[in-house]
Amino acid sequence: MTLPSPFIAALRDALPDASLTADAERIAPHLIEWRGRYRGQADWLALPGSTEEVARIVRLASAHGVALVAQGGRTGLVGAGVPRAGELPVSFARLRRLRALDPADGSLIGEAGLPLAQAQAAANEAGLLLPLTIASEGSATLGGIAATNAGGVHVLRYGMARDLVLGLEAVLADGRVWHGLSRLRKDNTGYDLKHLLVGSEGTLGLITAVAVKLVPATPHRSVALVGLDSPEAALALLTRARGALGDTLNAAELMPRFGIELAIRHLGADDPLGPSHPWFLLLETASGWAPARLAAAMEDLLAAEMEAGRIGAALIAQSEAQAEALWALRHGLSEAQKHEGGSIKHDIAVPVGAVPGFLTEALAAVTAQVPGCRPCPFGHLGDGNLHFNISEPEGGDRDAFLAQWEAVNRTVHDIVARWGGSISAEHGIGWMKVAEHARLADPAKLAAQRAIKRALDPHNIFNPGRILAADSL
Ligand SMILES: Cc1cc2nc3c(=O)[nH]c(=O)nc-3n(C[C@H](O)[C@H](O)[C@H](O)COP(=O)(O)OP(=O)(O)OC[C@H]3O[C@@H](n4cnc5c(N)ncnc54)[C@H](O)[C@@H]3O)c2cc1C
Repeated sequence: MTLPSPFIAALRDALPDASLTADAERIAPHLIEWRGRYRGQADWLALPGSTEEVARIVRLASAHGVALVAQGGRTGLVGAGVPRAGELPVSFARLRRLRALDPADGSLIGEAGLPLAQAQAAANEAGLLLPLTIASEGSATLGGIAATNAGGVHVLRYGMARDLVLGLEAVLADGRVWHGLSRLRKDNTGYDLKHLLVGSEGTLGLITAVAVKLVPATPHRSVALVGLDSPEAALALLTRARGALGDTLNAAELMPRFGIELAIRHLGADDPLGPSHPWFLLLETASGWAPARLAAAMEDLLAAEMEAGRIGAALIAQSEAQAEALWALRHGLSEAQKHEGGSIKHDIAVPVGAVPGFLTEALAAVTAQVPGCRPCPFGHLGDGNLHFNISEPEGGDRDAFLAQWEAVNRTVHDIVARWGGSISAEHGIGWMKVAEHARLADPAKLAAQRAIKRALDPHNIFNPGRILAADSL
């Protein structure tokens, strides 16, 4: 299905040449998702150079009934930004200016296509911190992180994108520009449009600029790896670490021994604590305190824990290089798993205190369902968010294993639901989880979500079929 020619003719009249292309080579990278799971189709690509151009595109799409698919850095993992036949991808790659940075205010305003890493660098130059850290930050954009409500490794301290976005500028379905780049910390003037657009995955409007909160820089850090007997022990350590380290606690990442073995085997990582523990917790503190004070706080905590016999071996990084090496273990887990064949993935969250119970139940259920499978659950213990990934059985049939993806997802999601959790902690619903969202979400919430979609996008021109099936509206 191609785009209607009157629509294309009107777009060509309305936009400068640089803002629209039919060049197949330039379009090709805009048709695939980062993980390669989704492949799209498009004959045209819009590359607006200003908010006014975005508004023109939206007005014409609305008039001609053409669907628009917003694209930032295209690092999303649920297929939402991949255009389907008859949809026009709208890339924000040319809208990437840093508009303002105000140290007194602790805020930065950037256009939607500004890569997160560039915004972070600008904050650092001003002696401040944009405290959202994700492995895709070199490509992921401010518009993308707002549209997906991205999280990352420092959520336990600073929250998700929703907690950091102060304001937005966006084009709504009728082509009007909402000038919401407020930098207010307090604004109780009725329904909060910003919070509706954050996490909307491009289904309620096109975000053209984002105001984000900056915080004081944390130039020093202390990183430790702790060996533990169980997720219960990891949770107990986290609880005491929160008390002892307070606001300096930056990250608490749970890793199973199996994952570390994969990182050693496939990525050449060091084995800092050896094989004697089935679970590990990576702890990071960061602050402007003197490095010695920060290190002492971590040492005191771990010494007391060890003396009480509550933790096994522990290693506190003695240099920045050693700290990086410990983080490389954590960041390498997904990559290392790729070398072990097929992997069925879940991006789930349960209440923090429910992590051990959820793990016991879910590990038993998936190993019963797929005998020989090798679970590798890891992630942000401090947020109750686990990447509950399962590698295929050793020497197994990859295709046969992956054919069970949806059945295994259902098993895990049912357990998540019983523990009061979420089937999408970080990555969103996109295409990937539309059916599971419809199956498991609270009916009252689903009805309200459908009503919001109908009200803000009456002609269903923004990312149709993502989050909510088009025929459910
Ligand atoms: C290696 C890797 C690590 C990752 N780690 C994390 C992590 O730790 N935490 C996490 O939360 N996510 C993570 N992600 C997922 C992803 O990086 C984030 O979701 C990111 O926020 C997407 O930004 P993007 O600019 O690439 O958006 P895209 O992928 O281009 O788009 C994602 C969604 O946002 C919409 N969108 C994009 N721009 C706009 C806009 N201007 N207006 C309206 N809608 C828009 C798209 O239509 C789509 O629905 C990771 C991804 C990768 C590849």
